[in-house]
Amino acid sequence: DIAMYRAKATGKSRYKVFSKKLHEMTHDALQLENDLKEAVEKNQLQLYYQPVVCAKSEKIKGFEALLRWSHPTRGMISPVNFIPLAEENGLIIPIGQWVIEEACRQLKKWHLSTEFARHMSMSVNISSRQFMHNDLEQTIINALDAVELSPDFFVAELTESSVMEKPESVIGQLNRLKKTGIRIAIDDFGTGYSSLAYLKRFPLDYLKMDKSFVDEINANHENMEIAKAIITLAHNLDLKVIAEGIERMEQLEALRCLDCNFIQGYYYSRPVDGLQASQLIEGWGDI
Ligand code: C2E
Ligand code: CA
Ligand code: CA
Ligand code: CA
Repeated sequence: DIAMYRAKATGKSRYKVFSKKLHEMTHDALQLENDLKEAVEKNQLQLYYQPVVCAKSEKIKGFEALLRWSHPTRGMISPVNFIPLAEENGLIIPIGQWVIEEACRQLKKWHLSTEFARHMSMSVNISSRQFMHNDLEQTIINALDAVELSPDFFVAELTESSVMEKPESVIGQLNRLKKTGIRIAIDDFGTGYSSLAYLKRFPLDYLKMDKSFVDEINANHENMEIAKAIITLAHNLDLKVIAEGIERMEQLEALRCLDCNFIQGYYYSRPVDGLQASQLIEGWGDI
């Protein structure tokens, strides 16, 4: 086979073979980037909502908004597959702004729909680049004002790694956010390295205990002790704990025993679209 022989014989041909593959890969990434730009313009982005439930009363405390991209040919794309790209190319700023606005519009609709929904909050994931962007507070204030929603219904979820990377410079930004009246949660807590000194100095409201601690909570004594330590630490710092990724009744019971405040997970509901979430709210009394 002449082509094979030439590829083996000369470095140049080999490079060509390699560069074709690289070209295809780059092409794919570029295609995805262009598609993502279009997705924003063509309304292909959608929010799903997952209830956050009070561990004691089992009432819905609020919802977390989770982004979905329904791509015309690739189907539903998970945020883990496009948020890193959006962070890299800066699209996270307009996308994040849309998420904040859409989440506020949805929460306002729920507040107006039933008396019982009027206490509910909305948690929104904020990426680290979005958090560093100096327009964030104004974006949130504008979105809340546009639908006349009080800021204390809005929870900004920031990952532990994004606030602990440069904690000293983050304090100012956190304080500015907090001054708007919104609530602040540290997401994926326990997966990164947290300085306890900063945890105390940050103006926080919630710790979200990462799913990894919940997964094995019933398996052995050590896991239970870690969950207990996180909850005790949070309560000593005057923070409420939201446990995420609860799938089974035993996990819920264990967390209840540890005085965990709020529960989120497939046990109650998977993230669902706005319409299904509305039905969930209406039917919640039956659960
Ligand atoms: P996260 O903020 O830690 O969200 C929790 C993830 O766990 C969600 O995945 C949710 O669907 C999933 N989950 C909830 N309960 C359970 C359970 O019981 N079992 C299991 N196995 N999984 C559960 P999702 O929706 O795929 O989101 C993944 C990540 O993408 C989020 O992790 C968050 O970091 C990011 N993300 C989602 N929406 C946004 C957004 O609007 N903006 C930004 N910046 N990031 C977002
Ligand atoms: Ca989150
Ligand atoms: Ca999380
Ligand atoms: Ca996570």
